[in-house]
Amino acid sequence: MTIGILGGGQLGRMLALAGYPLGLEFKVFDPSSEAVAGQVAPILVEDINDVPALGWFAKGLDAVTYEWENVPVASARFLEERVPVFPSPRALEIAGDRWNEKSFFRECGVPTPDFWPLSSREELEAAVKESDFPCVLKTRRFGYDGKGQFVLHSHTDVPRAWAELGGAALLLEAFVAFEREVSLLSVRERNGEIRFYPLVENHHRRGILRLSLAPAPNSASLQPQAETFARAILEKLDYVGVLALELFQFGARLVANEIAPRVHNSGHWTIEGSQTSQFENHIRAVAGLPLGSTAMKSNCAAMVNLIGELPPLEQVLGIEGAHAHYYGKEVKPNRKVGHVTVVAGDEGELKERVAKVQSLLTADER
Ligand code: AMP
Repeated sequence: MTIGILGGGQLGRMLALAGYPLGLEFKVFDPSSEAVAGQVAPILVEDINDVPALGWFAKGLDAVTYEWENVPVASARFLEERVPVFPSPRALEIAGDRWNEKSFFRECGVPTPDFWPLSSREELEAAVKESDFPCVLKTRRFGYDGKGQFVLHSHTDVPRAWAELGGAALLLEAFVAFEREVSLLSVRERNGEIRFYPLVENHHRRGILRLSLAPAPNSASLQPQAETFARAILEKLDYVGVLALELFQFGARLVANEIAPRVHNSGHWTIEGSQTSQFENHIRAVAGLPLGSTAMKSNCAAMVNLIGELPPLEQVLGIEGAHAHYYGKEVKPNRKVGHVTVVAGDEGELKERVAKVQSLLTADER
């Protein structure tokens, strides 16, 4: 069985690496010849909107999946007429536009911050009156890692926010004074079976994920709430594959920020930390195979992202419980070039081991 992957970054690479032991084969589509999944699987380097190239890509494939949520819906639908595409292009349509996404959360009964779509300066003025300050202006499309966002604290911020983001279709959101950010990774099989990983606590810096802790400390009572939200989304979309749901927590409440219809950075720890990694379970779901256990192998695990630098491998591997993943990418500032999974017997031990990994990073990138 051969699976096509749209997008050839580290996620595509880890998907292929998880699928090879199952005897599956992979073909990757990416606009860049530098895409690192091309180091482990045949790659077709073409524009993702190029219809003849997509047709050629589809030949001989048994299923198509994607690791990139900005895959144009039209390209995914074109492929769907030739070969099964999982998750369905509908998931892309929802996750790729913040207004679609938040409206869909409401349809599913999943709480999310109040929001107002807008496309003119007048509409922005009207929306900030309704939302009150602080509030967050976001582009509806193509926002990631905190890009395409502006937090407004007062009326005096309106001109700057408009100067920065105006012109694109926008969304104003109420600001959530959250205590922490968590995410829930879940996976749904073609026959409808769903499995959940434990909630993960996520720490960002300058908009980029730095550290994930699994399970999120003190999250046992939040897990059922998050699972109810994810189940509603998965079932409404008749979803197949791994879905990440990013949430804000304040007190006993969770509100949804966004979904990623793909394997997710906050699930990388599952490669060593879980009985079955997010990558393998995604491939199993896409291939129509039974899902594997999502139970943890150790009491706790963490993922330290390597942003813009790769510490000396010998030093990383010298830390008990640490597992290195270097993606084969050229190292550039602010670029995700690898991650380290840390597993441990208890939270204290995890903290110590994570601190050792972080001490190998330049202070700015911890
Ligand atoms: P996003 O691109 O929507 O994931 O947002 C990036 C980051 O901005 C999130 O991880 C939060 O830390 C912050 N953020 C986004 N939306 C809000 C909001 N409505 N209230 C407070 N913080 C937010």
